[in-house]
Amino acid sequence: MSTILYPSPIFGPIQSRRLGVSLGINLMPADGKLCSFDCVYCECGFNGEHTTRSRRPSREEVAAALEKTLRERHEQHLPLDVLTFAGNGEPTLHPDFPGIIDDTIRLRDQYFPEAKVSVLSNATMTHKESVRDALMRVDNNIQKIDTVSNDYIHLVDRPAPNYRVEKVIEDLCKFEGHVIIQTMFMGGTMTLQWSSGDDDVVVYDVSNYSDEFVNPWLEALQKIKPQQVMIYTIDRETPAEGLLKAEPAVLDAIAERVKALGFPCSVSY
Ligand code: SF4
Repeated sequence: MSTILYPSPIFGPIQSRRLGVSLGINLMPADGKLCSFDCVYCECGFNGEHTTRSRRPSREEVAAALEKTLRERHEQHLPLDVLTFAGNGEPTLHPDFPGIIDDTIRLRDQYFPEAKVSVLSNATMTHKESVRDALMRVDNNIQKIDTVSNDYIHLVDRPAPNYRVEKVIEDLCKFEGHVIIQTMFMGGTMTLQWSSGDDDVVVYDVSNYSDEFVNPWLEALQKIKPQQVMIYTIDRETPAEGLLKAEPAVLDAIAERVKALGFPCSVSY
């Protein structure tokens, strides 16, 4: 399959489905992936197949590269809607994440004061107060919750064994509404082989759009009270085989239920 690894620390801009003309900030090395999840649908591929051999960019390197790009775009009168922390893994794992956010806001204010700063995160570092404080300073604090079933998350998002979604929801409540929840809905199956014997092959249904999954997820939204919800589905080839896009009608029906609770909801098909 084809995987995408992004240049580091700056890439794009790209025309984002959800965010507009988006300049990417990748706090991971360019030659691999570093993430606290290992999602079976990750466009960067599985963690184990993309171990890095180089270090993350430093805070100073990120600021210098970002300033150079912003200055050039400003001089050439090129548009920019958003600066997006994304790329080869989880941006909040960077040890200088709070300082990098401060640098980015300062440079945004200097060159493109109308542009938004967005962070795409899997919420695994929201237990850290310094990370939460930094995320409170960005315009779009976008945090992933694919479901509220720990079994499903450990099967599909594959965090560390001690991950508990109840704790993450508690931490997301601390944003007091300054948070956008993004959720991947998909269908299909995934086959896991535990050993070389055929008897040890297990096929899992990975669809997460039935009421069994959506009802408790809606209850979690009511606790978190996000400013917005973004739902989406598979857009590219995935490292695991057998995963399927959720149908547009399925996504639309979920979006209607979110809106009925009073939360704006965007859908990317
Ligand atoms: S959280 Fe994002 S970067 Fe990390 S494995 Fe999942 S899809 Fe990939």
